[in-house]
Amino acid sequence: MDLETDIIIVGGAVAGAALACALAKYNFKVLVVDRRKDPGSMNRGDGLQPRTLEILEQWGVLQQFQQIPHIKSYGIELHHGVFKELMKIDLKPLSSSKYNYIMNIPHREIEQGLLDWANSYEHIQIMRGSSVERMLYNDQGNVSGVVIKTGKELTTCHAKIVVAADGGQSLLRKELSIKADRMVYNHELVVLHMPRPASFQGDLRTQVHLHRDGAVVLIPLPDQQMRITVVVPSGKASEWRKYSDNELLQQLARRVPMLKEISIFHREGEHVYKMVRMHADQYYAKQAALIGDAAHLTHASSGQGMNMAIQDADVLSKLLAKSLHGQLAIDEALALYEQVRKPINEDILSRSNFMSSVVFTPNKLLHAGKMFGMFSTRFLPGLRHKISSKIALGIAGVNQEETIRLQLSSVIEHM
Ligand SMILES: Cc1cc2nc3c(=O)[nH]c(=O)nc-3n(C[C@H](O)[C@H](O)[C@H](O)COP(=O)(O)OP(=O)(O)OC[C@H]3O[C@@H](n4cnc5c(N)ncnc54)[C@H](O)[C@@H]3O)c2cc1C
Repeated sequence: MDLETDIIIVGGAVAGAALACALAKYNFKVLVVDRRKDPGSMNRGDGLQPRTLEILEQWGVLQQFQQIPHIKSYGIELHHGVFKELMKIDLKPLSSSKYNYIMNIPHREIEQGLLDWANSYEHIQIMRGSSVERMLYNDQGNVSGVVIKTGKELTTCHAKIVVAADGGQSLLRKELSIKADRMVYNHELVVLHMPRPASFQGDLRTQVHLHRDGAVVLIPLPDQQMRITVVVPSGKASEWRKYSDNELLQQLARRVPMLKEISIFHREGEHVYKMVRMHADQYYAKQAALIGDAAHLTHASSGQGMNMAIQDADVLSKLLAKSLHGQLAIDEALALYEQVRKPINEDILSRSNFMSSVVFTPNKLLHAGKMFGMFSTRFLPGLRHKISSKIALGIAGVNQEETIRLQLSSVIEHM
């Protein structure tokens, strides 16, 4: 079978689904192909930051998310057993965005919500349970389509543009011979779900409990639930998963005493998340583009992976639209996409990398020094305020807006 479309998006998780949403307002034919039949239940990040909320509002998707149960999280608190509250990153005073909170919705709902919304447009087609096997090339050596496998059937689909949103293991990135720096962290995350204790109610923020053996992060979720991510040295996660319920609670309470209050938890959705940092050298080649995890993998400590994917989609969609309208050559559009997004993403990767050393420091003396350093800022309130305000802008994602607007304004009017 042969198909023809304007844009093929390989991968229909957050990055691919977000790009389909961003393209919905233009009338191009878009085909999203994903090998999974449904989003699955695994958590893969659930905090939509202020900048992302602004983008979702512009697309028209946010209104749908506001209808489903969600939590408003007003920033991050860093705690320590001895030094108590080390720092509060407060989004409430944020004046540079209309949103001063992170919207926490389970990842599955975000992915499915974006796909459903895109699917409501006739010119956007979603193909689930089908896998892209390889790319097709034209006489100039540029990508001109893909071969899709559904069961035993092969379909050839030609397109003006192919976008790889096929995740960290991206087949397309490898086929395009795009090199990527990759670093595996010396720790991993055990992800658990429990009801929120009585002391974790009211004005909610993500709580990071720093500990010499590794931090425990409590993320408030709707329906009085919370996600717990426990930082453990690489290779130790399997031991944690073998603990009985009682042993697990004891281990958690040792790092976060308030978790003694917990008596029930559900182990479904429990998984191990291996931390990898990766950044592709290029965001495009042979007129095909990379977005989301296909282009970059970041440490989860700043909760940015999903937000970076949505923000990539926002910039790329505007430039692809210009190109398909014949107002910008495709090579120029893709070069500008890389020029705008790559430095921003590199900065996020570096900040998340710094945070990785806060949540896990194997050297106990160094850990104690870092904790004392943070504690000492209590005696320098001006400096403490400056640091926390800067981190708040980074978490909100609003520090990049003006740079993007300036860079794109040469080709796009009315940004
Ligand atoms: C286990 C796990 C836990 C995570 N937890 C967090 C977290 O706590 N915080 C955070 O910020 N981020 C987290 N992330 C990262 C975050 O989920 C991603 O950064 C973000 O959702 C963007 O994902 P993506 O759509 O680019 O890639 P992915 O979510 O990996 O999606 C890629 C999609 O492409 C499809 N695909 C791949 N190859 C093909 C092919 N050949 N043909 C068709 N389809 C294909 C896959 O089926 C998949 O649906 C986690 C990721 C994983 C894997």
